[in-house]
Parts: sequence; C-alpha cells; structure tokens
Amino acid sequence: MIQVVDVHKSFGKLEVLKGINFSVNENEVVCILGASGSGKSTMLRCMNHLERITSGEIYIDGELADKRENDKDMIKISPEHAQELCMELGMVFQRFNLFPHLTALENVMKAPMLVKKVDEATALKDAEELLKSVGLYDKKDEYPSRLSGGQQQRVAIARALAMKPKIMLFDEPTSALDPELVGEVLEVMKDLAKKGMTMIVVTHEVGFAKEVGDRVIFMDGGVICEEGTPEDVIDHPKEERTKAFFSKIL
Ligand code: ADP
Ligand code: MG
Repeated sequence: MIQVVDVHKSFGKLEVLKGINFSVNENEVVCILGASGSGKSTMLRCMNHLERITSGEIYIDGELADKRENDKDMIKISPEHAQELCMELGMVFQRFNLFPHLTALENVMKAPMLVKKVDEATALKDAEELLKSVGLYDKKDEYPSRLSGGQQQRVAIARALAMKPKIMLFDEPTSALDPELVGEVLEVMKDLAKKGMTMIVVTHEVGFAKEVGDRVIFMDGGVICEEGTPEDVIDHPKEERTKAFFSKIL
C-alpha cells in the first residue's frame, strides 16, 4: 500500500530524514516508535505531501506519488494525480484540529461534501454511521468545545475516515490526552485495525504497539534503526540505541 524508497528530507542545512526505506502491506498495522526529534512526524508528513521530500521515492497503492532528486522533480506527476493519491491517506494528528464552529456531525460531513462533492444526504448518512462506529452518535450535535479531548480525537478519526482512505496515518494520537482518556481512543484504533484498515501509527504506547502492531519500526536520528515484530524490537532489541530507548521508557 505504501512504499518509501531512500527518502531524504532536509530543512535548510538540517538533514532530518537520512535515507528511509520501508513498505506497508494491505491490512498491516505498522507502529513507529522513537525519541522525540528522530523524524517520525516528518516521515508521515512527507507521505501525505504536507512536506516535500528532498530526494527519494514514495509509492501509494502501487503508484508513484512523489519522486525527487537533489530537490528537483525527476518525473512529472501532475499535482491533481498526486492529490488524488494523497486522498487515499487519512491523517490523525496529536492535536485534533476540529473546526470549532461546526458540530461533531458537521465536522465529519465537511470534507466529503467540499472535496469529493458528495451530496448532503449521503454525507449525513455516512457521518452518522461513522460517529456510531466511534461511539459518539449521541454527541453528534455538540460543538468541539463541549467534548472531552478523547471525544474530540474520536471525532477527528471519524472525520478522517469520512474520506474513505485506504490507509490511516496516526501521529501520536493520544499524546495530548489526559491519561484517563487515552484508552477510549486506542479502543477505536484497535477496532479499526480489526476491521482490516491499513495503518501507520506513530506512538509512545508500547502496549498498543505490542497488542495491535504487526510490525514495529524504531527510528533514531533520521534513520530506521531497527524493524521487526513487536516482540523482536520491543522485548529483544538488537541495536544499542533501541535497547537504550526501551530501557528508559519501559
Ligand atoms: P519527531 O516527530 O520524531 O519528534 P520531527 O519529525 O517532528 O520528529 O522532527 C525532526 C527534526 O526536524 C527536529 O529536529 C525538528 O526540529 C526538525 N523539524 C521538523 N519540522 C521542521 C521544519 N518545518 N523546519 C525546520 N526544522 C524542522
Ligand atoms: Mg512528532
């Protein structure tokens, strides 16, 4: 579903991604762990075209979505086609960024109507279904300010799903939440994984990575330091940097 080939990303002189290679298969849940500043968010943002890569290739659903060398486009991918491919990715951020002036239901309906020109009746039906699936149908008419952080994040997940993505990217979706609200969001994500959604999850939730992750990638200093099953990487790391990281957080 996604293939990342030798991706480099620099901000000015600062090289943040130093040759990243990995792929994610259909129905797979890949968890990315690593210290703050190791380039995890930048990696997700590059996949989603929120950042342009400096060099490398990114394939989405088997199709070339981005290819650059020395900051120059090597082949012409029309912006329309690149945008179409990016629409196959849904993204959920640490901060929920719901539209404050729209209700939960309206937040979920907005993008399909605006971007995909879905008619209002269909968007409404889909949004109601999605809010049911994240356990928030009874809150559909509430504004974000009247929802807890966990509820807002669940609306944000429903909103991303409303675009019917093939892959969901999560960037530390529970890091901004009070501890007692983390569980409800992880439950929704587990549910999604069970339904077969392909997912890339940047998280510090080691328990989630072990239970739900098919594979774990450990990033450090802009490279993938270690990759394997959760048992391999978390419980029996081989690399010194991985060992040091997990000995600190476990
Ligand atoms: P992580 O998500 O693993 O904490 P990030 O991808 O957010 O790491 O950041 C990796 C590095 O890139 C950090 O040193 C950060 O300061 C830097 N960085 C991220 N975004 C930008 C940007 N837009 N401009 C300059 N530096 C950035
Ligand atoms: Mg980050």
